[in-house]
Amino acid sequence: MHINFIERKGHVLTRSTLKCLSQVASVNPALGCIHQCAYCYARGYSIYPGDGKVLVYGNMPEKLKQELSTRRRLPAYVFFSPTCDVLQPIPQVLWVTYNLMSALLEYGVGINLLTKGRIPSKFLELFSQYRKLVHVQIGITTVDRDIQKKMEPYAATPQERLLNIKRLCETGIVPEVKLDPLIPGVTDTESNVTALFKALQGFGVHSACMNYLFLRPQIKKNLCKALRNTPFLQKILGYYQSGMSLNLLAERSRVTALAVEYRKQAYGNISRWAKDFGVHAYVCGCKNPDITGEPLCGMNWGKHFEKGFGQKRLFEEGG
Ligand code: SF4
Repeated sequence: MHINFIERKGHVLTRSTLKCLSQVASVNPALGCIHQCAYCYARGYSIYPGDGKVLVYGNMPEKLKQELSTRRRLPAYVFFSPTCDVLQPIPQVLWVTYNLMSALLEYGVGINLLTKGRIPSKFLELFSQYRKLVHVQIGITTVDRDIQKKMEPYAATPQERLLNIKRLCETGIVPEVKLDPLIPGVTDTESNVTALFKALQGFGVHSACMNYLFLRPQIKKNLCKALRNTPFLQKILGYYQSGMSLNLLAERSRVTALAVEYRKQAYGNISRWAKDFGVHAYVCGCKNPDITGEPLCGMNWGKHFEKGFGQKRLFEEGG
């Protein structure tokens, strides 16, 4: 594993290149992610430094403080992070992330965090001081450690993620769960999904965002490598043989997605199973624009932050 500090030259708060987050300020403290999920789309980005390498913007906290103190208008909230998991277990990444988050929260700027990592106690203590400004999404699709380990070899275990959820709820922050990406025939089965919702029962989680795996050449290559000795690789690929080309709203690119009928039926099933456990499961609008009218995800979780000014102003009025 190679970890290197690099210098951030441009602004810290930027407009994401992901279309679904284009009106949301986002922060990317690092390039690269130690979790190495088999399905990771960021591993196909041109800025991805390669497996086993993480580049950390060490000067970001100082730059952010300058930006916050000189901007006339601040965003209501920011998104961490489209290019890596900001809670991956690398001290340098955690250090930069913590300092960025604490600076934003001190200025009253909300943060949305999506993670498959372990949330260190220090972060929970910080979040507990700013409950209304923190929205957390926990990526989890199974409580089966064997399946999870194949798909996300270095991410937190299902039990650790459940513990994250429990500890967040105890601090008064009820996270949303992200069933993303669901793997056809593997993690979308009734037994897998109900086991997951059963494990979540009692924590107070009431919202889940769903999306299926989509394929691109690089994702397919990584998936084949990660699952090469498993009985489910051919089964998974089989589902995509009857798949379709889809233009994602999340990114400006085409992908191979599961057939419309498959997704409609499966999302319907999962929603019903979730409802039995008191959870509202909805389809990610960014990645399923052909079958749902759900708003883009940035708008969806953005509702959590109630502020009197809009995100767009950050970009319209600049520094
Ligand atoms: S945690 Fe996210 S960014 Fe990291 S490897 Fe997995 S999918 Fe990619």
